[in-house]
Amino acid sequence: MKKVIILGSSGSIGLQTADICLQLKDKISVVGLSVRSKTEVLKKQIKTFKPKAICLEESADNFSNFKNWIKINSPKTKLFFGAVGLEKLVSSVEADTLVAAIVGAAALKPIIAAIKTKKNIALANKEIVVMAGAEIMKLAAENGVSILPVDSEHSAVFQCSRGEDKKQIKNIILTASGGPFYKYDGDFSKITADKALKHPTWKMGRKITIDSATLMNKGLEAIEASVLFGLPIDRIKIVIHPQSIIHSLVEYVDGAALAQLSNPDMRLPIQYALTYPRRMPSKFIKPLNLAALSKLEFFEPDFKKFPCLKLAYSAANAGGAQPAILNAANETAVEAFLDGRILFTDIAKIVEKTMKLFKGIKKTGIDSLIEADLAARKKAHSLIESAESNLK
Ligand code: MG
Repeated sequence: MKKVIILGSSGSIGLQTADICLQLKDKISVVGLSVRSKTEVLKKQIKTFKPKAICLEESADNFSNFKNWIKINSPKTKLFFGAVGLEKLVSSVEADTLVAAIVGAAALKPIIAAIKTKKNIALANKEIVVMAGAEIMKLAAENGVSILPVDSEHSAVFQCSRGEDKKQIKNIILTASGGPFYKYDGDFSKITADKALKHPTWKMGRKITIDSATLMNKGLEAIEASVLFGLPIDRIKIVIHPQSIIHSLVEYVDGAALAQLSNPDMRLPIQYALTYPRRMPSKFIKPLNLAALSKLEFFEPDFKKFPCLKLAYSAANAGGAQPAILNAANETAVEAFLDGRILFTDIAKIVEKTMKLFKGIKKTGIDSLIEADLAARKKAHSLIESAESNLK
């Protein structure tokens, strides 16, 4: 029996993880759960999984009704609150794997706590790898735990490089659906949040859907791949593949390229991370019908139309705190765009300006990266405010 903690169990990845755990309930038991504030989802999951402990990521003051509910319905379940509670949940509950499905930098401290208490990480959060990837990989190696990618592209690379000598990898080729605008020729500044939230092939959370529309998601994924698989950023290539059937490829020195194909469904990479090194039958994944696939297309990405992609590569090339700053500014700008405060095209501008302002920071180490992250957010906020006043 594999014991699993799911952080962010009411989000898109969290819900799909819960589906898989339920389907494999004789192999996997869910011992811990966390949500930000969706107590109705959490109540159902508590009834299904009877976890040892749970955490509500906001302050305890917001949940007095829920506290009563727990007392009556699941008195043995330990209850934690807030960011500190999340770390306590992760380190106090015994488990084999932590599924990190919280969006953004908030996942960093709980993941570190999990690694230190010898839990493998099924990683659905690319932001923290971008922010502090080298530190996380080092800590994981020191503690003998595995980082198992849940991101579909990185899972594909992971699957295509199993048992191979990593030194024989020439390039990693990440595929990108291109998002809703890769063929769009209109005015990018007129793109609204509603339009950007309509992704053609993947159903995902709001933040990542906007990142897919700006292609920042692919830029973050390139940095993530470079960290997870130990390749310099210039050997991480990107190709637009609108059908999202090939999830990524690994090109070897002899000219062979191995690819992983499936219908686009996150439950495949999630399940692989949970059952690794084994594969299990899945009732969720529709088998590929190759004859029915009329075509698979591939295009070069357009770095001019999608400046976020270029920014991500230059952050990776600059190294130091620049990837953390890129990520912090992007998270802040995407939030402001979703709130209707800035234009679609302002996202890249705010990221670029913030990166320039913090060019000098070369320090690494988790504490200084957290510091750089906070400072970049603050700066991005003030840039957002001036972008807003320009819009009025
Ligand atoms: Mg992905």
